[in-house]
Amino acid sequence: MDTRRFSALIDGFLLSSGWNTVAAERAIDEEMIGLRIFDSPLLGVATADHPLFRALRGDGVIGPHFLLPEEWLPGARSVISFFLPFSESVRRANRADRNEPAPEWLHGRIEGQRCIDRLSAFLVEQLLQDGHSAVAPSIEDRFISCATTNTVFLDDDGVPLQLSFSSNWSERHVAYVCGLGSFGLSKGLITPKGVAGRFGSVVTTAPVPPDNVIASAVYENCTMCGACVRNCPVGAITIEKGKNHILCAEFLDLTKRKYQPRYGCGKCQTGVPCEHAIPAK
Ligand code: SF4
Ligand code: SF4
Repeated sequence: MDTRRFSALIDGFLLSSGWNTVAAERAIDEEMIGLRIFDSPLLGVATADHPLFRALRGDGVIGPHFLLPEEWLPGARSVISFFLPFSESVRRANRADRNEPAPEWLHGRIEGQRCIDRLSAFLVEQLLQDGHSAVAPSIEDRFISCATTNTVFLDDDGVPLQLSFSSNWSERHVAYVCGLGSFGLSKGLITPKGVAGRFGSVVTTAPVPPDNVIASAVYENCTMCGACVRNCPVGAITIEKGKNHILCAEFLDLTKRKYQPRYGCGKCQTGVPCEHAIPAK
């Protein structure tokens, strides 16, 4: 199993599973039926014992609640991270209005995540069929993700854990270790296929050859151009302090009340120089 095989598997899934297009019964309106959500993936592979995974447990990075690949899967040897860029239809639609998420973007956020969850399960299944063990942490019962402040969870040992805007498996940080890009001021990961898209990953005992060339600086791909600062409808991003997660989450809550069961914004990911490529410096 190597990255070319994973790429082919993902492309095949996106083309033929039906999860990468908006079905009539889930479409917000007729125009959304058949909308393609994602384009071809970008992949990166790291060894499961790469020291940067452990570094993510440090205070000021993710924290001690981040679970190592080995903790998700004893005997893990490889971590495969993938980035699925949003299709041009999704990105273009979200550039049109400065304040409201486009219906295409709402589908990308919600039906797009459903697609990634199914794709992750599909990749795990393929690895199991090849005789390896595998898990996709973000669809495991143990996965914890917190999009608010000071929320209390119980960890594996039943010990209360208070989290704010964090998770025990951050796809963006995992993608960073797997060499997919570096962070931007808006806190997205800027990959060679841009920042507008979604991440997923699989941990496996399969010895997949690592290919991760890790950015030499955490913000290497960000030009600090300030376009995401200007695009944010609620002033949640500043050049000096980066992203204010509380202001962003409050705005996402507003969109949830308006568009439930969907929500989203993404104005810091569309209509910006890093939308679909690494911006020129
Ligand atoms: S819009 Fe500019 S400042 Fe914001 S993340 Fe992209 S490159 Fe960085
Ligand atoms: S998602 Fe929207 S509200 Fe949140 S930081 Fe980006 S532009 Fe601002």
